[in-house]
Amino acid sequence: MKLDHIGIAVESIERSLIFYESIGIELAKTEVVADQKVRVAILPVGETRIELLETLDPDGPVGKFLAKKGQGLHHIAVRVENISGTIDKLTAQGIELIDKVPRKGAGNSLIAFVHPRSTGGVLLELTEKQDERKAD
Ligand code: ZN
Repeated sequence: MKLDHIGIAVESIERSLIFYESIGIELAKTEVVADQKVRVAILPVGETRIELLETLDPDGPVGKFLAKKGQGLHHIAVRVENISGTIDKLTAQGIELIDKVPRKGAGNSLIAFVHPRSTGGVLLELTEKQDERKAD
């Protein structure tokens, strides 16, 4: 397993980038993840990366998070080889998943969230890189 990325909810990617760039962490690219109603800024840090999440919709998951908790750590993401198999295994163990079926994430990945109730209070994202497996 690898720590794939750390997701941080921000009010404004541009304003937040001023801080990250001041400590030498550079923006690689931004992309829109329509399914999550967010714009994502990808900042590589060693073998992992920080993702700054700016909402496109106050009713989206990050919009609701910002309204309730303000800016801050939103989730951590670990990379798995087989996301569907991992979902089945965790479900069988009684672990509560938000996504029972994987959905599209940033950077051509499949993702599924594990509920903070099952993880000790941290929203955990499982992510599988699609280009590591052959397309069906
Ligand atoms: Zn993520």
